[in-house]
Amino acid sequence: MYFMEKIDKIAEIITLKVNFSDSEGSYSIYPAVLRDESNVILVDCGYQGFLPLLEDAMRENGLSFADITGIVITHHDHDHFGALHEIKEKYPHIVTMSSLFDAPFIEGKKKSLRLVQALDIYDTLPEREKEDAMEFQKTLEAVKPVGIDRALRDGDILPWCGGTEIIGTPGHMPGHISLYVRRHNAVITGDALVGINGRLRVANRYYSLDLDSAKKSAKKLLELNAEKYICYHGGVITPRKI
Ligand SMILES: [Zn+2]
Repeated sequence: MYFMEKIDKIAEIITLKVNFSDSEGSYSIYPAVLRDESNVILVDCGYQGFLPLLEDAMRENGLSFADITGIVITHHDHDHFGALHEIKEKYPHIVTMSSLFDAPFIEGKKKSLRLVQALDIYDTLPEREKEDAMEFQKTLEAVKPVGIDRALRDGDILPWCGGTEIIGTPGHMPGHISLYVRRHNAVITGDALVGINGRLRVANRYYSLDLDSAKKSAKKLLELNAEKYICYHGGVITPRKI
């Protein structure tokens, strides 16, 4: 019992709230941090240019990038790894991680699947949407590639917070991974589930590269019956309390 209490004190999940706005509104994203005695792992890191916002969000939670030992990228969408390049430049000690599948996309060795999708649909769009679509393509093309130091696989158990399982959750993107922190019975969903009005949902279907797989992956995470789902979009959802 004493042992359990001791572990719990030094193993925690901190959910960062990063606020930002553009001409159309205000938004938040929720990167998670797994902290234990030896590791401080950030899961996903925001858009390109977000380093100062992340540093502020860390500071508000008594954290610092100097203490971060690793960053896990759940998938290669620009809102999840856009800032990785600037983070790695300023904090080169941080170990970068992603699924084996996603590594070549983050490293710029393969063309982003989101960009491929954007290019594919461009000609089918109504004229009034083309300007925004072109802007989106430019944003994707501007993301700087980063080397991945460690590839993760479905079923891997990492020592973080007393045991964190990597769960392959393809659909939104084929190489998408989520994390299950067993001791806390908590899931870090990435975009396999999003929180909308306090409920868990499959992410926007238009951004699912394979909607059937996305639905299966969402079910897989829900079947874990976790106490807490930390959604990058939507924040912490506690389904049992709804
Ligand atoms: Zn996202």
